Amino acid sequence: MILLLCNAVVGDDEKTCLTHPTFTHEFERKKMTKKIAVLPGDGIGPEIVREAVKVLEALKANHGLDIEMTEGTIGGAGYDAAGDPLPAETLELAKASDAVLLGAVGGPQYDSLDRPLRPERGLLRIRKELNLFGNLRPALLYPELAEASTLKPEVVSGLDIMIVRELTGDIYFGQPRGIEERNGERVGFNTMVYSESEIRRVADMAFQIAMKRDKKLCSVEKANVLECSELWKEIVIEVSKDYPEVELSHMYVDNAAMQLVRAPKQFDVIVTGNIFGDILSDAASMLTGSIGMLPSASLDEKNKGMYEPIHGSAPDIAGKDIANPLATILSVSMMLRYTFADEAQAQRVDDAVAKVLADGYRTVDIYSEGTKKVSCSEMGDAVVAALS
Ligand code: NAD
Repeated sequence: MILLLCNAVVGDDEKTCLTHPTFTHEFERKKMTKKIAVLPGDGIGPEIVREAVKVLEALKANHGLDIEMTEGTIGGAGYDAAGDPLPAETLELAKASDAVLLGAVGGPQYDSLDRPLRPERGLLRIRKELNLFGNLRPALLYPELAEASTLKPEVVSGLDIMIVRELTGDIYFGQPRGIEERNGERVGFNTMVYSESEIRRVADMAFQIAMKRDKKLCSVEKANVLECSELWKEIVIEVSKDYPEVELSHMYVDNAAMQLVRAPKQFDVIVTGNIFGDILSDAASMLTGSIGMLPSASLDEKNKGMYEPIHGSAPDIAGKDIANPLATILSVSMMLRYTFADEAQAQRVDDAVAKVLADGYRTVDIYSEGTKKVSCSEMGDAVVAALS
């Protein structure tokens, strides 16, 4: 299923953006060279990003994609280079770019650093700094990989859901937070908090996505226990008045977790908060067989975005050239679709990935007997070859 937030016809006067009224300005910018900040990060990050960059270079060389890529450090690599998981230079680069392509961050060598210096903090900060409040995580099962899922093929075959996760609020950012001494023992505490406007803008994004798909939206919260969720539900219902065609349902997060593994195809678009979305989208990813197949987009109000695979830095396989680069390559496709509104280029990448899978190319995480086992770089080469 193809999803477009913006409908833009290049070289034409028709310039509409359902999401953002400021898109005309963005549209003008579209005609110029697009700047991409490339942040490989740690672990397998540099390996998988290298393959995604190969794909972008091929689109530039052979298919007229007008881009300029600049590399920066983030996460552990940022700490190593500048003593900061989000070096000032990297943040500046990201702010000056139209889109960010990110690998992954983290590694055991950084686990003993003070919390603010840990790689993951770099990631949380860049999302916050760029105001990337809407995280889109598709879970789509390629027919060729139906057997890779741990669920029965009939439960997952044809699965195509989109999880819209709020990314800059909730308990991950709420204050107060900390660990302190109370009554002679240590107490850990965090704050779950959402403002009306934060809920409204992500709900709006999710409804618009639902409009482009099967017009079904499920809002997931825990309103039976949490006041924060009560407000979430109230605002989502308010926003739904602007989208009478969308069938809105509500589900408690515990039930949603159960339904995702029981009957995932009942969902089309799910919208939820940061922590619930974090957990549910990882569960949804496993429905599709491999975490190495799933891309994500994080968007701001003008469709500027950061694009990254949903998996981590996989230190267990780093440096071995065996990681699956397809999630990162599919993140490039999302970048072309959402930030650059270039459906043709996005479809070209999607088709190339579908072709290599149909031709039997498999990295080790999705390998099954009778298919061709390839390395990370060979998979990237195969996708590049399939582009033409
Ligand atoms: P992980 O996603 O890195 O790895 C989980 C498992 O999946 C591992 O067995 C790994 O080998 C495998 N895997 C992941 N990506 C793969 C790929 N492309 N191809 C093949 N196999 C793949 O999660 P983890 O092990 O919990 O975390 C490792 C590090 O990554 C930690 O430091 C964690 O904090 C960090 N992390 C970063 C991000 C991010 O950058 N967005 C997300 C999650 C975890």
